[in-house]
Amino acid sequence: MAATPTTPSRARRETDAIIVGAGLSGLVAAAELVDAGKHVVILDQEPEATLGGQAHWSFGGLFLVDSPEQRRMGVRDSLDLAKQDWAGTAGFDRDEDEWGRRWAEAYLDFAAGEKRAWLHEKGVRFFPIVGWAERGGYNAIGHGNSVPRFHIVWGTGPGVLAPFIAKVKAGEAAGLVEFRHRHRVDELIVEDGAVVGVQGAVLAPDDAARGEASNRDVVGDFELRAPAVVVASGGIGGNHDLVRKFWPKRMGEPPAAMLSGVPAHVDGRMLPITERAGARLVNGDRMWHYTEGITNWAPVWPLHGIRILPGPSSLWFDAEGRRLPVPLFPGFDTLGTLEHIVATGHAHSWFVLTQKIIEKEFALSGSEQNPDLTGKDLKLLSERLGSGAPGPVEAFKQHGVDFVVADTLPELFEGMQALSPHVPLDTENIEREIVARDRELDNDFSKDLQLTAVRGARKYRGDKLIRVATPHKILDPKAGPLIAVKLHLLTRKSLGGIQTDLDSRALGPDGTAVPGLYAVGEAAGFGGGGVHGYRALEGTFLGGCLFTGRAAGRAIARG
Ligand SMILES: Cc1cc2nc3c(=O)[nH]c(=O)nc-3n(C[C@H](O)[C@H](O)[C@H](O)COP(=O)(O)OP(=O)(O)OC[C@H]3O[C@@H](n4cnc5c(N)ncnc54)[C@H](O)[C@@H]3O)c2cc1C
Repeated sequence: MAATPTTPSRARRETDAIIVGAGLSGLVAAAELVDAGKHVVILDQEPEATLGGQAHWSFGGLFLVDSPEQRRMGVRDSLDLAKQDWAGTAGFDRDEDEWGRRWAEAYLDFAAGEKRAWLHEKGVRFFPIVGWAERGGYNAIGHGNSVPRFHIVWGTGPGVLAPFIAKVKAGEAAGLVEFRHRHRVDELIVEDGAVVGVQGAVLAPDDAARGEASNRDVVGDFELRAPAVVVASGGIGGNHDLVRKFWPKRMGEPPAAMLSGVPAHVDGRMLPITERAGARLVNGDRMWHYTEGITNWAPVWPLHGIRILPGPSSLWFDAEGRRLPVPLFPGFDTLGTLEHIVATGHAHSWFVLTQKIIEKEFALSGSEQNPDLTGKDLKLLSERLGSGAPGPVEAFKQHGVDFVVADTLPELFEGMQALSPHVPLDTENIEREIVARDRELDNDFSKDLQLTAVRGARKYRGDKLIRVATPHKILDPKAGPLIAVKLHLLTRKSLGGIQTDLDSRALGPDGTAVPGLYAVGEAAGFGGGGVHGYRALEGTFLGGCLFTGRAAGRAIARG
């Protein structure tokens, strides 16, 4: 049974700060305030079971620059290289990017500087093999990570949250923190241009488990006042109407069908509420959605999809059977691929691969899909190095509706066609592409750039060890069976949001801070209303929550 909400009341209460949202960014802000001896009330519309928000479900990948883990893996990184990559990826080109740029500069210093030590001191540890996300595939100054920077926290998302939850719970025990679950903020109270509190609805108790949608039955209302209000309410990815409304024109028509990579509470409701209180919303058309979504066979939230974190070897075809163009290989350019797929007029695409590839190259994003890393289970982890796909991947292969497994191409095509009966699939073309690509393997060099990229990736020790299969012919029966995976578009992150300065103070349309109002995490575009610009280098979202939450907590504590 979830925690019973406090008695509906209109009573005024004294506290130093109100935090709207008990996700990672709100908890980090609260932890800083507890450290400073301040009193905080944390409001969340969801039951206590969801404490930690999206971060609990996350893979716990953190962007670090020039870390000991990278150096141990033979990776040479530097702040300058990271700056080059961030600039080429963000593509800042708007007047309203001024604060996003400044946050990016500060964040890069943090990621190359004190971030790791700050977390380490709190007990956070990292998996030794650093992942290489968003590889780009363009010129050196273009989009993507020149080197692996995705550091997986030992314990994944829950491992990132743990020290902050512990600190805030200790604060609660000491009388410094009050949690009020099932409290949904509907309005910010503004007096003389300053935000002085919040108003909202008390929602009926709900025993929904973590991540499940809870009821919205109103049983009362509340009002609460404080000199500082922190909006830490997350993005819009759980609200497909909003995603479609803000869908960027440059990416064509919004897709007809999408899966949700986030729980329903990521509803975007607080953004217009914060705007009405005087804050400026920017970059609503910048979003970060994935193209490798699969339907969760054991869903927790509505339309629950899981993202495959793919290695580079699977062949990628659009819904009609055309191979995706260079450099849209798995794991290279998320938004470039999204734009391309949307332009085909279909909301899905296909991976074609072998058993040998799935065993080494399929990882699934999410704490619950990685019980070895999440549970810090070394025995289970050692199985990643052995043969066979990881248990959760094998479970999808067996139970997932998007998987076709077959010994021959005709059987594979039959299965693919059955999963999309209304879209004509050019199986002749798929076969021609596979045969031609396999023929290229007769030499150690190739004009097929995907093969060249695969060979290049294996020069990185981490990829060779656990991420990139030895190049082999797709049609080699020894590598089989053949596998096709129907991939859906999957909503995830909002890159725009409430514009903030480097103290996480919300800014108004005239560029001055709205007194009393702060915004952090995804609601603030991970800093400044858009620290990422158009695209992300990955592992930068949790990091953005840490960095913006910390800034807000420290600024409020300073007074
Ligand atoms: C499966 C998955 C994997 C991910 N993997 C990674 C990764 O490896 N690396 C990475 O960097 N990022 C990752 N992310 C992204 C990252 O987890 C999120 O961007 C981040 O956790 C967002 O935190 P937040 O505090 O901004 O918001 P949230 O976690 O969304 O929390 C917001 C809270 O505010 C509450 N709220 C909203 N509106 C109101 C209101 N009106 N009144 C009261 N309460 C309200 C919500 O109920 C919620 O509890 C992943 C996300 C998912 C879902």
